[in-house]
Amino acid sequence: MSEQSIVLQGVGVGRGAVWGPVATVRPAPEVPADEPVPADRAAAKEKVLDAFTLVAKGLRAQAQGASATVADVLKATAQMADDPALREQTGQRIDKGEPPMHALTAVVASFAEMFTAAGGYLAERVTDLNSVRDRVVARYQELPEPGVPPLPWPSIIVAPDLSPADTAALDLDKVLGIVIEQGGPTGHTAIIAGQLGLPCVVRATGASQLGDGDIVALDAAHGTVTLDPDDETRAAVETRRAGLAALAEATADGATADGHHIALLANIGTAEDAERLTDAAVEGVGLFRTEVLFLGATTAPTVEDQATVYTRALAALGGRKVVLRTLDAGADKPLAFVTQAGEENPALGVRGFRLVRHAEGLLRTQLEAIARAAKESGGTPWVMAPMIATVEEARQFSAMAREAGIETVGVMVEVPAAALRAKDILAEVDFVSLGTNDLAQYTMATDRLLGSLVDLLDAWQPALLDLVAATAAAGVETGKPVGVCGESAADPVMALLLTGLGVTSLSMSPSAVPAVRFALSQHSLETCRAIGEVARKAPTAAEARAAALTLVDPHVREVLALD
Ligand code: PEP
Ligand code: MG
Repeated sequence: MSEQSIVLQGVGVGRGAVWGPVATVRPAPEVPADEPVPADRAAAKEKVLDAFTLVAKGLRAQAQGASATVADVLKATAQMADDPALREQTGQRIDKGEPPMHALTAVVASFAEMFTAAGGYLAERVTDLNSVRDRVVARYQELPEPGVPPLPWPSIIVAPDLSPADTAALDLDKVLGIVIEQGGPTGHTAIIAGQLGLPCVVRATGASQLGDGDIVALDAAHGTVTLDPDDETRAAVETRRAGLAALAEATADGATADGHHIALLANIGTAEDAERLTDAAVEGVGLFRTEVLFLGATTAPTVEDQATVYTRALAALGGRKVVLRTLDAGADKPLAFVTQAGEENPALGVRGFRLVRHAEGLLRTQLEAIARAAKESGGTPWVMAPMIATVEEARQFSAMAREAGIETVGVMVEVPAAALRAKDILAEVDFVSLGTNDLAQYTMATDRLLGSLVDLLDAWQPALLDLVAATAAAGVETGKPVGVCGESAADPVMALLLTGLGVTSLSMSPSAVPAVRFALSQHSLETCRAIGEVARKAPTAAEARAAALTLVDPHVREVLALD
């Protein structure tokens, strides 16, 4: 790398690398508090109405070059910008002497209130409504529209963070990778990037200084973003891309070099994700985050609504293993229809399975929908509950799921209490799955969304490894499956360690599977066990990973850029 290159350091998601031009995501413009009443009201009104038209036109033009799903999102927003009532009421307020952007904001707020009260589909359109407001405000101020800009060519998206709406509008044919300045590796932008198979660097300090058209090289394996990469850096990126693309051709089931089987599974959040897996070389789904389906919903989904989506997902996977997780609402995944407002510490509050305490019907409805989907699709889903802390909770969930007709029932181990008593918990259920994202959060008393404490959330933290090892040992002793479905399963070195500890399946973003499959295939079970032993003796996270790496095959280290 040349001496002049500026390198931003962040935390990488995945092992991919890419280089290309930057496209920055623009923030929403502000409406000045002291916005004056225009001298010429008629001209101001015309300018606002023109801004509406330009916004709708721009969105439709963007939709034309976009893939089908993205085009639908953009066209729906364009339709909102065309809404006559929205325009008319804004115009009337300007006529009466309100400053134009205040008039627009007030009208949008009253529509949003109405939509929210109506619930259902309309409530879900509030995001579009706000997006139209921000775009019109920007146009009126003659600023570029906020959000992800139209991408004339493949680009690397750079943003402070991405909202779920921004992410839905990403045109995957044109997005090479994602760099965000905030967030953390187990935050939702990172998870979605992994889901989409996009190389991503989160917590890239200084990323906001990057400008449209800057050429950068993004290296997720090292968590770096290099501005103006020289030929050598670009060549290294190309080599990595080619190497990973070659690994992606492999389709064998997950196994160590000596044939010890480890199921490699995918984490998904929607039925579309399941449909995208049709040709993927995965043995099934190890975590279906069902709450993702209802993040925008304002009313509880019915049995029918849910059964339809689950049937679709199960049918897409045609008999492959699918582990559905019941709603994990609360904390970082609030669901408007059930999450209690006003908790001081939502991550420690009524979330996950604990919702059963005040909304038992919600869980029963979901279990009924899953059982119905199982019948309709002919699949036999495994079902697990999130955030289990005690044996009683595991017992209660197991009883409820079996009553609903679910055959294979498990729970997640993501609270230290459950890991420490994994054997007792396993006595109640058929399997457990380690959610290392939350297990790290609760072991290290560190908010998983707080990027600034990311070192404490490192999956190699010795205390976390101890809890994972205790859970795996309980599985070995009882002969019941213990999977890992947190982000740590996607780290190829960690995957070797987990295999050595006795974990039976690894579930991750589908894009992470090829590297993990390759790493496993190059090491014997004995080496995996030795990796577990040396890593667990280390007193710090950095030393644990370094110790593990000494036993990793040099060729694997090179191809996957593990050093
Ligand atoms: C986890 O906590 O590790 C997990 C897999 O669940 P989620 O990330 O959805 O909380
Ligand atoms: Mg979790």
